[in-house]
Amino acid sequence: MSTPPLASGPEGPGALRPLLDTVLDALREGAAARGGPLPAGGPEAVARHVRDAVGEVLPREGRDDALRVLVRALAAGSADPADPLCAAHLHCPPLAVAAAADLAAAVLNPSLDSWDQAPSASALEALVTAALAAEVYAGAEEPPGRADALVTTGGTESNQLALLLAREARGGVRLVCGANAHHSLHRAAWLLGLPEPVVVPAPAGTMDPAALDEALTELPGPRGSLLVAATAGTTDAGLLDPLADIADLCAAHGARLHIDAAYGGGLLLSDRHRARLDGLHRADTVTLDLHKLGWQPVAAGLLAVRNASDLAVLQHSADYLNADDDTEAGLPDLLGRSLRTTRRPDILKIAVTLATLGRAGLGALVDQVCAHAAELADLIAADPGFELYDRPVISTVLFRPTGASDAAVAAVRRTLLHEGRAVLGRAALDGRLWLKVTLLNPHTRPGDLANLLKLVEGHTPR
Ligand SMILES: *Cc1c(COP(=O)(O)O)cnc(C)c1O
Repeated sequence: MSTPPLASGPEGPGALRPLLDTVLDALREGAAARGGPLPAGGPEAVARHVRDAVGEVLPREGRDDALRVLVRALAAGSADPADPLCAAHLHCPPLAVAAAADLAAAVLNPSLDSWDQAPSASALEALVTAALAAEVYAGAEEPPGRADALVTTGGTESNQLALLLAREARGGVRLVCGANAHHSLHRAAWLLGLPEPVVVPAPAGTMDPAALDEALTELPGPRGSLLVAATAGTTDAGLLDPLADIADLCAAHGARLHIDAAYGGGLLLSDRHRARLDGLHRADTVTLDLHKLGWQPVAAGLLAVRNASDLAVLQHSADYLNADDDTEAGLPDLLGRSLRTTRRPDILKIAVTLATLGRAGLGALVDQVCAHAAELADLIAADPGFELYDRPVISTVLFRPTGASDAAVAAVRRTLLHEGRAVLGRAALDGRLWLKVTLLNPHTRPGDLANLLKLVEGHTPR
Protein backbone atom coordinates (compact mmCIF):
# COMPACT_ATOMS: atom_id res chain seq x y z
CA MET A 1 0.00 0.00 0.00
CA SER A 2 1.30 3.46 -0.86
CA THR A 3 1.70 6.07 1.85
CA PRO A 4 -1.82 7.46 2.53
CA PRO A 5 -2.43 11.11 1.58
CA LEU A 6 -2.49 13.88 4.16
CA ALA A 7 -5.41 16.22 4.77
CA SER A 8 -3.43 19.44 4.47
CA GLY A 9 -0.57 20.49 2.29
CA PRO A 10 -0.68 20.87 -1.50
CA GLU A 11 -2.21 17.44 -2.07
CA GLY A 12 -4.74 17.77 0.76
CA PRO A 13 -7.76 19.27 -1.00
CA GLY A 14 -7.41 16.91 -3.95
CA ALA A 15 -7.19 13.90 -1.66
CA LEU A 16 -10.07 15.06 0.49
CA ARG A 17 -12.62 15.89 -2.19
CA PRO A 18 -13.46 12.29 -3.20
CA LEU A 19 -13.34 11.21 0.44
CA LEU A 20 -15.87 13.91 1.30
CA ASP A 21 -18.14 12.62 -1.45
CA THR A 22 -17.83 9.19 0.14
CA VAL A 23 -18.65 10.60 3.59
CA LEU A 24 -21.66 12.56 2.32
CA ASP A 25 -22.99 9.52 0.41
CA ALA A 26 -22.50 7.32 3.47
CA LEU A 27 -24.28 9.84 5.70
CA ARG A 28 -27.24 9.86 3.31
CA GLU A 29 -27.34 6.05 3.03
CA GLY A 30 -27.04 5.58 6.78
CA ALA A 31 -29.83 8.04 7.52
CA ALA A 32 -32.06 6.35 4.93
CA ALA A 33 -31.35 2.93 6.46
CA ARG A 34 -32.32 4.27 9.88
CA GLY A 35 -35.47 5.96 8.59
CA GLY A 36 -36.25 7.77 11.84
CA PRO A 37 -34.81 9.77 14.72
CA LEU A 38 -32.82 6.82 16.12
CA PRO A 39 -32.16 3.17 15.26
CA ALA A 40 -34.81 0.61 16.17
CA GLY A 41 -34.03 -2.44 18.27
CA GLY A 42 -32.25 -1.00 21.30
CA PRO A 43 -28.63 -1.30 22.45
CA GLU A 44 -28.06 -4.94 21.50
CA ALA A 45 -29.24 -4.54 17.91
CA VAL A 46 -27.17 -1.39 17.47
CA ALA A 47 -24.04 -2.98 18.96
CA ARG A 48 -24.51 -5.99 16.64
CA HIS A 49 -24.76 -3.76 13.56
CA VAL A 50 -21.66 -1.85 14.60
CA ARG A 51 -19.72 -5.09 15.21
CA ASP A 52 -20.80 -6.44 11.83
CA ALA A 53 -19.82 -3.24 10.01
CA VAL A 54 -16.41 -2.98 11.65
CA GLY A 55 -15.44 -6.61 11.42
CA GLU A 56 -11.86 -6.78 12.62
CA VAL A 57 -10.97 -3.57 14.47
CA LEU A 58 -7.27 -3.69 13.59
CA PRO A 59 -6.90 -6.08 10.67
CA ARG A 60 -3.47 -7.13 9.42
CA GLU A 61 -4.17 -5.45 6.06
CA GLY A 62 -6.45 -2.43 5.77
CA ARG A 63 -9.56 -2.15 3.60
CA ASP A 64 -10.54 0.53 1.08
CA ASP A 65 -14.23 0.71 1.97
CA ALA A 66 -13.75 1.37 5.69
CA LEU A 67 -14.68 5.07 5.49
CA ARG A 68 -17.94 4.39 3.67
CA VAL A 69 -18.88 1.35 5.75
CA LEU A 70 -18.12 2.85 9.17
CA VAL A 71 -19.66 6.25 8.46
CA ARG A 72 -22.76 4.54 7.09
CA ALA A 73 -22.97 2.34 10.20
CA LEU A 74 -22.51 5.32 12.49
CA ALA A 75 -25.20 7.30 10.69
CA ALA A 76 -27.58 4.35 10.59
CA GLY A 77 -27.18 3.91 14.32
CA SER A 78 -27.24 7.55 15.37
CA ALA A 79 -29.79 9.54 17.32
CA ASP A 80 -30.11 12.45 14.89
CA PRO A 81 -30.99 15.78 16.48
CA ALA A 82 -31.93 17.08 13.03
CA ASP A 83 -34.98 14.79 13.16
CA PRO A 84 -37.82 16.74 14.80
CA LEU A 85 -38.71 13.71 16.89
CA CYS A 86 -35.23 13.59 18.44
CA ALA A 87 -35.82 16.14 21.19
CA ALA A 88 -34.73 14.73 24.54
CA HIS A 89 -31.61 16.55 25.54
CA LEU A 90 -29.68 19.77 25.07
CA HIS A 91 -28.28 17.98 22.03
CA CYS A 92 -28.57 20.37 19.11
CA PRO A 93 -28.54 19.76 15.38
CA PRO A 94 -25.36 21.50 14.22
CA LEU A 95 -25.54 24.05 11.42
CA ALA A 96 -24.08 22.91 8.11
CA VAL A 97 -21.80 25.94 7.98
CA ALA A 98 -20.42 25.18 11.45
CA ALA A 99 -19.73 21.54 10.53
CA ALA A 100 -18.01 22.68 7.33
CA ALA A 101 -15.83 25.06 9.33
CA ASP A 102 -15.00 22.23 11.72
CA LEU A 103 -13.68 20.25 8.78
CA ALA A 104 -11.16 23.03 8.14
CA ALA A 105 -10.17 22.89 11.80
CA ALA A 106 -9.56 19.15 11.50
CA VAL A 107 -7.57 19.57 8.29
CA LEU A 108 -5.32 22.38 9.49
CA ASN A 109 -5.10 20.88 12.96
CA PRO A 110 -3.89 23.95 14.83
CA SER A 111 -3.17 23.27 18.48
CA LEU A 112 -3.78 26.13 20.85
CA ASP A 113 -1.05 25.40 23.37
CA SER A 114 1.57 27.50 21.61
CA TRP A 115 1.61 30.27 19.01
CA ASP A 116 3.93 28.33 16.69
CA GLN A 117 1.24 25.62 16.35
CA ALA A 118 -1.65 28.03 15.86
CA PRO A 119 -0.69 31.51 14.64
CA SER A 120 -4.02 32.55 13.10
CA ALA A 121 -6.19 30.29 15.25
CA SER A 122 -4.82 31.87 18.42
CA ALA A 123 -5.38 35.37 17.02
CA LEU A 124 -8.95 34.40 16.04
CA GLU A 125 -9.58 32.93 19.46
CA ALA A 126 -8.37 36.10 21.20
CA LEU A 127 -10.62 38.24 19.01
CA VAL A 128 -13.78 36.14 19.29
CA THR A 129 -13.51 35.34 23.00
CA ALA A 130 -13.04 39.04 23.80
CA ALA A 131 -16.12 39.90 21.71
CA LEU A 132 -18.25 37.18 23.34
CA ALA A 133 -17.13 38.27 26.81
CA ALA A 134 -18.09 41.85 25.93
CA GLU A 135 -21.50 40.52 24.87
CA VAL A 136 -22.01 38.85 28.27
CA TYR A 137 -20.76 41.85 30.23
CA ALA A 138 -22.36 44.50 28.00
CA GLY A 139 -24.69 45.63 30.80
CA ALA A 140 -21.96 46.10 33.39
CA GLU A 141 -22.16 49.71 34.62
CA GLU A 142 -18.61 49.97 35.85
CA PRO A 143 -16.47 47.41 34.15
CA PRO A 144 -14.05 46.36 36.89
CA GLY A 145 -11.46 45.35 34.35
CA ARG A 146 -11.29 43.82 30.95
CA ALA A 147 -13.65 40.88 30.51
CA ASP A 148 -12.41 37.78 28.72
CA ALA A 149 -13.55 34.26 27.94
CA LEU A 150 -11.87 30.87 27.77
CA VAL A 151 -12.82 28.17 25.30
CA THR A 152 -13.78 24.89 26.96
CA THR A 153 -15.13 21.49 26.04
CA GLY A 154 -18.53 22.45 27.47
CA GLY A 155 -20.46 23.41 30.55
CA THR A 156 -18.77 20.81 32.72
CA GLU A 157 -15.27 22.15 32.10
CA SER A 158 -16.52 25.75 32.35
CA ASN A 159 -18.08 25.06 35.74
CA GLN A 160 -14.90 23.37 36.93
CA LEU A 161 -12.81 26.35 35.88
CA ALA A 162 -15.26 28.73 37.53
CA LEU A 163 -14.84 26.91 40.85
CA LEU A 164 -11.08 26.81 40.44
CA LEU A 165 -10.88 30.56 39.70
CA ALA A 166 -13.10 31.26 42.72
CA ARG A 167 -10.96 29.08 44.98
CA GLU A 168 -7.80 30.84 43.83
CA ALA A 169 -9.27 34.36 43.96
CA ARG A 170 -10.71 33.90 47.42
CA GLY A 171 -8.08 31.61 48.95
CA GLY A 172 -10.49 28.72 49.47
CA VAL A 173 -14.16 28.69 48.73
CA ARG A 174 -17.37 26.89 49.61
CA LEU A 175 -19.94 26.37 46.88
CA VAL A 176 -23.54 27.38 47.54
CA CYS A 177 -25.88 26.23 44.80
CA GLY A 178 -29.53 25.53 44.24
CA ALA A 179 -31.10 22.10 44.42
CA ASN A 180 -31.70 22.70 40.70
CA ALA A 181 -27.97 23.14 39.89
CA HIS A 182 -26.24 20.99 37.31
CA HIS A 183 -24.54 17.86 38.67
CA SER A 184 -21.20 18.95 37.20
CA LEU A 185 -20.91 21.64 39.90
CA HIS A 186 -20.97 18.98 42.61
CA ARG A 187 -18.37 16.95 40.76
CA ALA A 188 -16.18 20.01 40.30
CA ALA A 189 -16.34 20.73 44.04
CA TRP A 190 -15.33 17.14 44.72
CA LEU A 191 -12.54 17.23 42.14
CA LEU A 192 -11.11 20.47 43.55
CA GLY A 193 -11.23 19.20 47.11
CA LEU A 194 -13.74 21.85 48.23
CA PRO A 195 -16.02 21.29 51.20
CA GLU A 196 -19.39 19.65 50.60
CA PRO A 197 -21.56 22.18 48.71
CA VAL A 198 -24.40 23.92 50.51
CA VAL A 199 -27.64 23.18 48.68
CA VAL A 200 -30.29 25.89 48.72
CA PRO A 201 -33.89 24.71 48.17
CA ALA A 202 -35.47 25.31 44.78
CA PRO A 203 -39.08 24.38 45.52
CA ALA A 204 -40.47 25.80 42.26
CA GLY A 205 -37.49 24.61 40.20
CA THR A 206 -35.51 27.83 40.70
CA MET A 207 -33.30 28.91 43.57
CA ASP A 208 -35.32 30.48 46.38
CA PRO A 209 -33.73 33.90 47.16
CA ALA A 210 -35.07 33.96 50.73
CA ALA A 211 -33.44 30.59 51.41
CA LEU A 212 -30.22 31.82 49.79
CA ASP A 213 -30.25 34.92 51.99
CA GLU A 214 -30.66 32.71 55.03
CA ALA A 215 -27.83 30.40 53.97
CA LEU A 216 -25.48 33.33 53.27
CA THR A 217 -26.34 34.87 56.64
CA GLU A 218 -25.90 31.72 58.67
CA LEU A 219 -22.94 29.99 57.07
CA PRO A 220 -19.80 30.18 59.18
CA GLY A 221 -16.43 31.21 57.80
CA PRO A 222 -14.87 34.45 56.59
CA ARG A 223 -16.91 36.85 54.51
CA GLY A 224 -16.08 36.34 50.91
CA SER A 225 -15.31 32.65 51.14
CA LEU A 226 -18.60 31.68 49.52
CA LEU A 227 -19.28 31.10 45.85
CA VAL A 228 -22.91 31.16 44.81
CA ALA A 229 -23.70 29.29 41.60
CA ALA A 230 -26.99 30.25 39.98
CA THR A 231 -28.48 28.62 36.89
CA ALA A 232 -29.78 30.38 33.79
CA GLY A 233 -31.64 27.58 32.06
CA THR A 234 -31.98 24.45 34.16
CA THR A 235 -31.21 21.22 32.36
CA ASP A 236 -34.48 19.58 33.44
CA ALA A 237 -37.00 22.34 32.88
CA GLY A 238 -35.20 25.26 31.23
CA LEU A 239 -35.98 27.59 34.14
CA LEU A 240 -34.08 30.78 34.94
CA ASP A 241 -33.04 31.50 38.51
CA PRO A 242 -33.86 35.08 39.63
CA LEU A 243 -30.42 36.32 38.58
CA ALA A 244 -30.73 39.98 39.59
CA ASP A 245 -32.05 39.08 43.07
CA ILE A 246 -29.27 36.55 43.51
CA ALA A 247 -26.67 39.11 42.36
CA ASP A 248 -28.05 41.60 44.93
CA LEU A 249 -27.72 39.00 47.69
CA CYS A 250 -24.17 38.12 46.65
CA ALA A 251 -23.24 41.81 46.69
CA ALA A 252 -24.83 42.29 50.12
CA HIS A 253 -23.06 39.26 51.60
CA GLY A 254 -19.73 39.66 49.80
CA ALA A 255 -20.11 36.32 48.04
CA ARG A 256 -18.70 35.61 44.61
CA LEU A 257 -21.22 34.76 41.88
CA HIS A 258 -21.02 32.20 39.10
CA ILE A 259 -23.90 31.79 36.66
CA ASP A 260 -24.23 28.52 34.80
CA ALA A 261 -25.87 29.71 31.58
CA ALA A 262 -24.93 26.60 29.59
CA TYR A 263 -28.48 26.51 28.23
CA GLY A 264 -29.99 29.96 28.83
CA GLY A 265 -26.91 31.87 27.68
CA GLY A 266 -28.14 31.42 24.11
CA LEU A 267 -30.92 33.91 24.88
CA LEU A 268 -28.25 36.63 24.67
CA LEU A 269 -28.43 36.20 20.91
CA SER A 270 -32.11 37.18 20.76
CA ASP A 271 -33.33 40.77 20.92
CA ARG A 272 -36.70 39.42 22.03
CA HIS A 273 -35.42 37.25 24.87
CA ARG A 274 -32.10 38.67 26.08
CA ALA A 275 -33.70 40.94 28.70
CA ARG A 276 -34.67 37.78 30.57
CA LEU A 277 -30.99 37.34 31.43
CA ASP A 278 -31.04 40.58 33.43
CA GLY A 279 -28.34 40.27 36.09
CA LEU A 280 -26.11 37.93 34.07
CA HIS A 281 -23.44 40.61 33.68
CA ARG A 282 -23.10 40.88 37.46
CA ALA A 283 -21.60 37.40 37.74
CA ASP A 284 -17.85 37.00 38.21
CA THR A 285 -17.94 34.05 35.81
CA VAL A 286 -20.52 32.77 33.33
CA THR A 287 -20.70 29.33 31.71
CA LEU A 288 -21.86 29.33 28.07
CA ASP A 289 -22.32 26.33 25.84
CA LEU A 290 -22.75 26.97 22.13
CA HIS A 291 -23.25 23.26 21.44
CA LYS A 292 -26.66 23.74 23.06
CA LEU A 293 -28.57 26.92 22.11
CA GLY A 294 -25.85 27.84 19.57
CA TRP A 295 -26.12 25.05 16.95
CA GLN A 296 -22.45 24.05 17.05
CA PRO A 297 -21.00 20.58 16.70
CA VAL A 298 -19.57 19.41 20.03
CA ALA A 299 -17.41 20.88 21.57
CA ALA A 300 -18.16 24.59 21.91
CA GLY A 301 -18.05 25.66 25.55
CA LEU A 302 -16.95 28.99 26.99
CA LEU A 303 -16.29 30.46 30.39
CA ALA A 304 -16.75 34.24 30.42
CA VAL A 305 -14.79 35.99 33.16
CA ARG A 306 -15.74 39.48 34.30
CA ASN A 307 -12.26 40.42 35.31
CA ALA A 308 -9.53 38.99 33.11
CA SER A 309 -7.00 39.39 35.94
CA ASP A 310 -8.72 36.39 37.60
CA LEU A 311 -7.14 34.29 34.87
CA ALA A 312 -3.59 35.05 36.02
CA VAL A 313 -3.71 32.01 38.32
CA LEU A 314 -3.80 29.76 35.25
CA GLN A 315 -0.36 30.96 34.14
CA HIS A 316 1.91 28.01 33.73
CA SER A 317 5.24 27.54 32.05
CA ALA A 318 6.75 24.81 29.99
CA ASP A 319 9.94 25.80 28.30
CA TYR A 320 9.10 24.13 25.00
CA LEU A 321 5.77 26.00 24.70
CA ASN A 322 6.20 29.40 26.35
CA ALA A 323 9.80 30.08 27.29
CA ASP A 324 10.22 33.47 29.00
CA ASP A 325 12.49 34.81 26.29
CA ASP A 326 9.95 33.82 23.59
CA THR A 327 7.20 35.59 25.52
CA GLU A 328 9.40 38.65 26.02
CA ALA A 329 10.14 38.63 22.30
CA GLY A 330 6.40 38.89 21.64
CA LEU A 331 5.20 35.34 21.04
CA PRO A 332 1.76 35.03 22.66
CA ASP A 333 1.69 32.77 25.70
CA LEU A 334 -1.30 30.46 25.32
CA LEU A 335 -0.84 27.93 28.12
CA GLY A 336 -2.69 30.10 30.62
CA ARG A 337 -5.90 29.97 28.57
CA SER A 338 -6.78 26.40 29.48
CA LEU A 339 -5.87 23.51 31.76
CA ARG A 340 -5.54 21.42 28.63
CA THR A 341 -2.32 21.34 26.59
CA THR A 342 -3.08 20.23 23.02
CA ARG A 343 -6.33 21.96 22.17
CA ARG A 344 -8.56 22.08 19.05
CA PRO A 345 -9.50 25.41 17.42
CA ASP A 346 -13.18 25.11 18.36
CA ILE A 347 -13.35 28.87 17.95
CA LEU A 348 -13.29 28.58 14.14
CA LYS A 349 -16.77 27.08 13.74
CA ILE A 350 -18.09 29.56 16.33
CA ALA A 351 -16.53 32.54 14.51
CA VAL A 352 -17.83 31.33 11.14
CA THR A 353 -21.33 30.87 12.55
CA LEU A 354 -21.42 34.31 14.18
CA ALA A 355 -20.22 35.99 11.01
CA THR A 356 -22.45 33.98 8.65
CA LEU A 357 -25.72 34.34 10.54
CA GLY A 358 -25.10 37.55 12.40
CA ARG A 359 -27.02 38.57 15.47
CA ALA A 360 -30.25 38.64 13.47
CA GLY A 361 -29.84 35.13 12.06
CA LEU A 362 -28.89 33.55 15.38
CA GLY A 363 -31.55 35.49 17.25
CA ALA A 364 -34.15 34.22 14.80
CA LEU A 365 -33.12 30.61 15.53
CA VAL A 366 -33.46 31.22 19.27
CA ASP A 367 -36.87 32.84 18.76
CA GLN A 368 -38.03 29.95 16.57
CA VAL A 369 -37.21 27.20 19.07
CA CYS A 370 -38.76 29.20 21.92
CA ALA A 371 -41.89 29.67 19.78
CA HIS A 372 -42.01 25.92 19.03
CA ALA A 373 -41.97 25.21 22.75
CA ALA A 374 -44.88 27.59 23.28
CA GLU A 375 -46.80 25.86 20.45
CA LEU A 376 -46.17 22.43 21.92
CA ALA A 377 -47.31 23.64 25.33
CA ASP A 378 -50.50 25.01 23.73
CA LEU A 379 -51.21 21.63 22.11
CA ILE A 380 -50.65 19.83 25.41
CA ALA A 381 -52.75 22.28 27.42
CA ALA A 382 -55.63 21.91 24.96
CA ASP A 383 -55.60 18.09 25.18
CA PRO A 384 -57.28 16.53 28.24
CA GLY A 385 -55.18 13.42 27.62
CA PHE A 386 -52.08 15.28 28.80
CA GLU A 387 -50.95 17.25 31.78
CA LEU A 388 -48.54 20.18 31.20
CA TYR A 389 -45.92 20.79 33.90
CA ASP A 390 -45.76 24.53 33.25
CA ARG A 391 -45.47 27.11 30.48
CA PRO A 392 -42.01 26.84 28.89
CA VAL A 393 -39.46 29.49 29.79
CA ILE A 394 -36.89 28.67 27.10
CA SER A 395 -37.47 25.69 24.80
CA THR A 396 -38.14 22.82 27.21
CA VAL A 397 -41.62 21.39 27.65
CA LEU A 398 -42.49 18.87 30.37
CA PHE A 399 -45.68 16.87 30.24
CA ARG A 400 -47.19 13.50 31.10
CA PRO A 401 -50.20 11.49 29.97
CA THR A 402 -53.08 12.32 32.31
CA GLY A 403 -53.51 9.74 35.05
CA ALA A 404 -50.44 7.69 34.02
CA SER A 405 -48.23 6.20 36.71
CA ASP A 406 -44.53 7.10 36.87
CA ALA A 407 -43.81 3.59 35.65
CA ALA A 408 -46.03 4.17 32.60
CA VAL A 409 -44.26 7.48 31.86
CA ALA A 410 -40.88 5.72 32.05
CA ALA A 411 -42.17 2.87 29.90
CA VAL A 412 -43.54 5.00 27.07
CA ARG A 413 -40.20 6.77 26.76
CA ARG A 414 -38.30 3.47 26.58
CA THR A 415 -40.78 1.95 24.13
CA LEU A 416 -40.36 4.91 21.76
CA LEU A 417 -36.57 4.61 22.07
CA HIS A 418 -36.62 0.88 21.47
CA GLU A 419 -38.86 1.15 18.45
CA GLY A 420 -36.75 3.99 17.04
CA ARG A 421 -39.77 6.32 16.85
CA ALA A 422 -38.84 9.25 19.10
CA VAL A 423 -36.17 10.40 21.55
CA LEU A 424 -37.80 12.01 24.58
CA GLY A 425 -36.14 12.87 27.86
CA ARG A 426 -37.35 12.42 31.42
CA ALA A 427 -37.31 14.65 34.48
CA ALA A 428 -38.36 13.93 38.05
CA LEU A 429 -39.91 17.13 39.41
CA ASP A 430 -42.61 17.78 42.00
CA GLY A 431 -42.24 14.17 43.12
CA ARG A 432 -43.44 12.86 39.76
CA LEU A 433 -41.87 11.70 36.53
CA TRP A 434 -42.37 13.86 33.43
CA LEU A 435 -41.58 13.43 29.76
CA LYS A 436 -39.15 16.11 28.62
CA VAL A 437 -39.03 17.66 25.16
CA THR A 438 -36.09 19.97 24.52
CA LEU A 439 -36.72 21.80 21.27
CA LEU A 440 -33.50 22.91 19.57
CA ASN A 441 -34.35 22.23 15.93
CA PRO A 442 -35.40 25.42 14.15
CA HIS A 443 -36.85 23.38 11.25
CA THR A 444 -39.45 21.62 13.41
CA ARG A 445 -43.01 22.21 12.16
CA PRO A 446 -46.30 22.24 14.05
CA GLY A 447 -47.24 18.90 12.44
CA ASP A 448 -44.11 17.32 13.95
CA LEU A 449 -45.17 18.41 17.42
CA ALA A 450 -48.67 16.99 16.91
CA ASN A 451 -47.11 13.70 15.71
CA LEU A 452 -44.97 13.54 18.80
CA LEU A 453 -48.04 13.79 21.02
CA LYS A 454 -49.85 11.12 18.97
CA LEU A 455 -46.91 8.78 19.40
CA VAL A 456 -46.92 9.27 23.16
CA GLU A 457 -50.66 8.81 23.34
CA GLY A 458 -50.52 5.63 21.27
CA HIS A 459 -47.68 4.06 23.26
CA THR A 460 -48.61 4.81 26.86
CA PRO A 461 -49.41 1.59 28.70
CA ARG A 462 -52.82 1.77 30.39
C1 LIG B 1 -25.44 20.80 29.71
C2 LIG B 1 -25.23 21.54 30.98
C3 LIG B 1 -23.98 21.53 31.60
C4 LIG B 1 -22.86 20.63 31.15
O1 LIG B 1 -22.40 20.99 29.89
P1 LIG B 1 -21.58 19.96 28.99
O2 LIG B 1 -21.38 20.75 27.75
O3 LIG B 1 -22.47 18.78 28.81
O4 LIG B 1 -20.34 19.64 29.69
C5 LIG B 1 -23.80 22.33 32.71
N1 LIG B 1 -24.80 23.07 33.18
C6 LIG B 1 -26.03 23.10 32.62
C7 LIG B 1 -27.10 23.96 33.19
C8 LIG B 1 -26.27 22.31 31.50
O5 LIG B 1 -27.49 22.32 30.94
